[in-house]
Amino acid sequence: MSRVLPVINVRSIVIHYNEIALKGKNRPYFTTRLVRNLRAATAGAGVVQVRVLNGRFEMELEPSADIDEVRRRVGRVFGVGNYARAGRTGVDLDEIGRAIIADLDVREPASFRIAARRADKRHAMTSMDIERRIGAMVQAATGWKVDLSRPELVIHVEMLGEQTLYSFGKERGAGGLPTGVSGRVACLLSGGIDSPVAAWRMMRRGCRAYFIHFHSYPVLSRASQEKAVELTRLLTEWQLASRLYLVPFADIQQKALMTVDPALRVVVYRRLMLRIAGQIARRVRAQALVTGEVIGQVASQTLENMTVIDAASPLPVLRPLVGMDKDEIVDAAKALGSFPISIIPDQDCCTLFTPKHPATRTSIEQIEAAEQALDGDALIQAAIAAAGVQDFKFPMVKSSV
Ligand code: ATP
Ligand code: MG
Repeated sequence: MSRVLPVINVRSIVIHYNEIALKGKNRPYFTTRLVRNLRAATAGAGVVQVRVLNGRFEMELEPSADIDEVRRRVGRVFGVGNYARAGRTGVDLDEIGRAIIADLDVREPASFRIAARRADKRHAMTSMDIERRIGAMVQAATGWKVDLSRPELVIHVEMLGEQTLYSFGKERGAGGLPTGVSGRVACLLSGGIDSPVAAWRMMRRGCRAYFIHFHSYPVLSRASQEKAVELTRLLTEWQLASRLYLVPFADIQQKALMTVDPALRVVVYRRLMLRIAGQIARRVRAQALVTGEVIGQVASQTLENMTVIDAASPLPVLRPLVGMDKDEIVDAAKALGSFPISIIPDQDCCTLFTPKHPATRTSIEQIEAAEQALDGDALIQAAIAAAGVQDFKFPMVKSSV
């Protein structure tokens, strides 16, 4: 007769990182960063500790932790390949079975199976024996159907010496690389659909993003700034801390109104934006600028105009969406959750005082001539001096200006 042991259940989440991405000599650096990011992302959510196991992490939870909240947060940590709700218990098979049954989701899967592994091969039973025994217990308790070849739910059971780790299914992680391992970028964030998606893509590759928004307040309303704030707040859930620069652009536009040919204004504005963004980027040690530009989407986004715009930039300009179709970007924006914010109506500062049909093919000579009458350096310094700064933390927001 087997002794009835109390179920000592430690609830946890087992996290697998993006194996391939983390290969090579950078691996310890990446995994250390990932553990730190996981801890920070789940701060205050009832995580006791994040333990480094062989090739993965175990995030141990307090009994009172809100598991769905922890799952949501882990789901937004870049560098995580997949994760699963898990638990830890002893090595007695009855105990394991009871712990699993006590921990099952209420939702009924179409079918399930147990997948067992033993780290300690001296264990008297084979993996298949373990699978059968525990599978039978779960089936008896739930009535769920067993399917060995294509189960909807796989319950993993891993016996590790004195303890057993079990986990339910797998949820797909955010992928990419841990925030911070790829350096910093400065993202030009309009209130539109494209730029938040572009920023998110760079963030997913391990870059920490700084955000720069140009607004035409008080000529236009504060709506674009409010959208930039909302978008930054959303993106901060993925990198935990962000800074947004709100740069006044109305003065520059009014000066250009007097001196620059209307057809050339958009390109002139963009060049000034990149020069301003470049200076801000240098201050925060960002190594590149990021925009949401796409080839052929609007007049300023032809190869000719992009070349002229790039020539003004002190830093490389990265355009992660350059080859995407609008509907693909819209899908990405919906998945990210930025779409409803982006479509709130506002007047974009670049459409202010610009014609319906701006020049699609400008040349450097033409634009430099058009800029002659503008005191670019002075305008740039004034805009930077007047910029507002807001710092964001997930989950609270703190404003410093
Ligand atoms: P988006 O949807 O990102 O606004 P768009 O298709 O509307 O892009 P444009 O308005 O031409 O295209 O802007 C191209 C890129 O220039 C944007 O993706 C963004 O990176 C940058 N940009 C444009 N306007 C602003 C602004 N007011 N503040 C900051 N960046 C801007
Ligand atoms: Mg726009």
